[in-house]
Amino acid sequence: MPELPEVETTRRGIEPHVLRTRVREVIVRRRDLRQPVSSDLSEIEGRSIVSVSRRAKYLLLGVSDGSHVLIHLGMSGSLRLSKPADTWKTHDHLGITLGNGKQLRFHDPRRFGLVLRLNGDPAAHPLLCDLGPEPLEDGFTPEHLKSACSNRSAPIKQVVMDNRVVVGVGNIYAAEALFLAGIHPLVPANRLSLPKLRALTDSIRAILTAAIDSGGTTLRDFLNSDGEPGYFAQHLYVYGRDGEPCRRCGTAIQHRVCGQRATCWCPKCQRR
Ligand SMILES: [Zn+2]
Repeated sequence: MPELPEVETTRRGIEPHVLRTRVREVIVRRRDLRQPVSSDLSEIEGRSIVSVSRRAKYLLLGVSDGSHVLIHLGMSGSLRLSKPADTWKTHDHLGITLGNGKQLRFHDPRRFGLVLRLNGDPAAHPLLCDLGPEPLEDGFTPEHLKSACSNRSAPIKQVVMDNRVVVGVGNIYAAEALFLAGIHPLVPANRLSLPKLRALTDSIRAILTAAIDSGGTTLRDFLNSDGEPGYFAQHLYVYGRDGEPCRRCGTAIQHRVCGQRATCWCPKCQRR
């Protein structure tokens, strides 16, 4: 599943080709994604793309008429730049032909993605309005995390994976960030001190930044793999390493299913 780093990598990859170009044509070959592709999407034809931004795992193309095209990659979606004459692959569901001769293609075998046209402020849209701060922006502070944790006795891992607390911390990143911060994933969130939560905030930022920085290869790996980010795998401390020795202390990594997600930790580096 594309996580925040893959989505940010996609944003950076398409932005130079898409920004300040005019939309010549919108071609929808298959409308039945997670929600149907907006029936008024073709109204962006003749308009320009004025921004390419990201909120959580949603890409937003700002259009010169004030609307936005929201794109979510779902479980298996990807965007790539083609030429209009290029053969359409199976699962290429939509193309936006641009004035510069390129075409942005949306490809999604499992059709869990979204392509919607939003009129009005995207931040107020039901999909976006309840989202917490971006992990790499100023709003994600130890104090914010402390207040989000203060009345929650759920395991800390579950809390940092909650999009209302902070967006974009998927299972892999949560497990790794907790290891780096020396925090047991199952400790109740409201038991953690501000210094511990500061360490966690820092490690979440560090791990997502590292994943984005290695993003050039991410996308390629991602497209060809079964969904695990291959670039990251060599560097993982705990995720998916059940029973293997901790890279820091050699203790066997432990594993438990928590909230239907696999949770791994080192019992020595992450004491309860
Ligand atoms: Zn260890």
